[in-house]
Amino acid sequence: KDSLTKTRKNFVEKVEAVVTGRTIIDENLYEELEETLIQADVGIDTALELVENLRAEVKKRKIGSPEELPAVLKELIQNALGIEAGGIEISAEQPFVIMVVGVNGVGKTTTIGKLANFYKEQGKSVIMGAADTFRAAAIDQLEIWGNRVGVPVIKHSEGSDPAAVAFDSLQAAKARNADVLIIDTAGRLHTKSNLMDELKKVRRVIGRELPGAPHEVLLVVDATTGQNAISQAKLFKEAVDVTGLALTKLDGTAKGGVVVAVKQSLGIPIKMIGVGEGIDDLRPFSAKEFADALFA
Ligand code: GDP
Repeated sequence: KDSLTKTRKNFVEKVEAVVTGRTIIDENLYEELEETLIQADVGIDTALELVENLRAEVKKRKIGSPEELPAVLKELIQNALGIEAGGIEISAEQPFVIMVVGVNGVGKTTTIGKLANFYKEQGKSVIMGAADTFRAAAIDQLEIWGNRVGVPVIKHSEGSDPAAVAFDSLQAAKARNADVLIIDTAGRLHTKSNLMDELKKVRRVIGRELPGAPHEVLLVVDATTGQNAISQAKLFKEAVDVTGLALTKLDGTAKGGVVVAVKQSLGIPIKMIGVGEGIDDLRPFSAKEFADALFA
């Protein structure tokens, strides 16, 4: 809960500040609320929609006191977030393949390490595939996490074909009866070689070797980048069918409103949230818990 302190300060406390001391609900009040929502990175469209819905509720419920508004807003935000339980449900598929994508620096490697640990702690056998062959450092980083968590990492040398690494990882996971295979991928955006083509190929090779796989294509985005996270998500969604989002660094940002924006503008479920640099700082996302923590 404490991980959302900054967002709470930037968001709910401001919402409360807007209503405090007021005696009537007027146009001016709605405008200030809208502004507060936008500043918390809820996104302009979502902010407008939330305030529109707020007006409707005020009318419907015949609310007269501004002080009742934060609670109604909380309800609306919770509704906007949906009721998904979050988390990544490991089905009976074996191995359950999670392909992880995202731009460099967003916390992809860390998220993979935390995920591996998460499943390991549940008694599952896990294998990781180092298919970001573009940077030697990426392979090294994954190995560090592999050692830390106690999970084998399948790798090739720097510059080798990422799809070949994915293929070998899958073979290894099958041969060793692993429950979960987590595949890291490259995240360079600013080079000539086409990242999206590379990711499509990795995805294709996985699907060919194991029909139905990858069972999860998890896109990692950095919450501190606010609206940038949304544009990244759109890009990846078009290229590889992203099935879920991991939103990292929610602990370090006042822009937690981006959770609502992501949900509203992408239609991709948020599955996990990163709330710190530690190995245990990854949680299944729950709309209810999030709204509760926000308005605590
Ligand atoms: P990658 O380039 O996407 O693989 O990014 P890394 O996994 O190397 O992470 C980049 C930095 O973000 C590292 O310093 C991580 O410790 C940090 N980081 C990752 N996830 C979180 C998180 O949820 N909260 C915080 N505060 N830092 C994080």
